[in-house]
Amino acid sequence: MTADAHIPQEDLALYALQALSEEEASAVRVHLKGCDVCRNEAAELSGDLALVALSAEERPLPEGAHERLMARIAVDAKQEGREAAKPVVSIADTKPARPVYSSIPWAAVAAMLVFAFALMMKIGDMHRELQQKSDQLAQQAAASSRAQRVLDVLTASSAQRVLLTAAKTKPAPSARAVYLAASGSLIFQANDLDPLPTGKAYELWVIPANGKAPIPAGLFRPDAAGSASVILPPLPTGVPAKAFGVTVERAEGSDTPTAPILLAGAAAGE
Ligand SMILES: [Zn+2]
Repeated sequence: MTADAHIPQEDLALYALQALSEEEASAVRVHLKGCDVCRNEAAELSGDLALVALSAEERPLPEGAHERLMARIAVDAKQEGREAAKPVVSIADTKPARPVYSSIPWAAVAAMLVFAFALMMKIGDMHRELQQKSDQLAQQAAASSRAQRVLDVLTASSAQRVLLTAAKTKPAPSARAVYLAASGSLIFQANDLDPLPTGKAYELWVIPANGKAPIPAGLFRPDAAGSASVILPPLPTGVPAKAFGVTVERAEGSDTPTAPILLAGAAAGE
């Protein structure tokens, strides 16, 4: 490493690894101040090593491996570097004559290859992880948008609600309830309801499986076609239902159902 020769790449690597002696390192520093070519080279090497350092964060080297590696590189560099120390090309020479292959410290090269391989594996892992995450996100988004569409259709006032029956039969009033006791969620849809006198409303009831009093679950009036729905009325959670019923009550609703029960359905499994 004289003032008028470029610094061999392996020495720059050792410098970046801080594996040079203080004396050698300061010679390199002096040269780097005055030489763009070597400075760029050193910056590139340091960048590579910084990447390696980052990639190694989650999977640290075994205890002492770093020290052993550094020692090994330092020894190799001294032996091979000294013998082959014919560095080489003056700055005046326009070709940046880089590699002097015979003098490359192979332990350092091997170490770099190992690091590079570890880095590639790491990048591969991260890529796979990212792919999985984005697949999951896409699935969740799809599921949630489907659920939203189901709700949109069920609640849309413009939806056509059609019950198919045997031809030429006047359809009787009917309704369907979908109930999730754990969250107290209820969706109810009725068809072919008879019109109500003014001042009256239909009222839906949840009849609890535990024998307690019926719980009012919403007032509703049918539209011109006789359809009505009750979507997610406020209900207590965790009350399994024995049955559902519909009565006619005064418009503001009642605390207890008034006979007769016009529509009733037992919940399956109770
Ligand atoms: Zn140089």
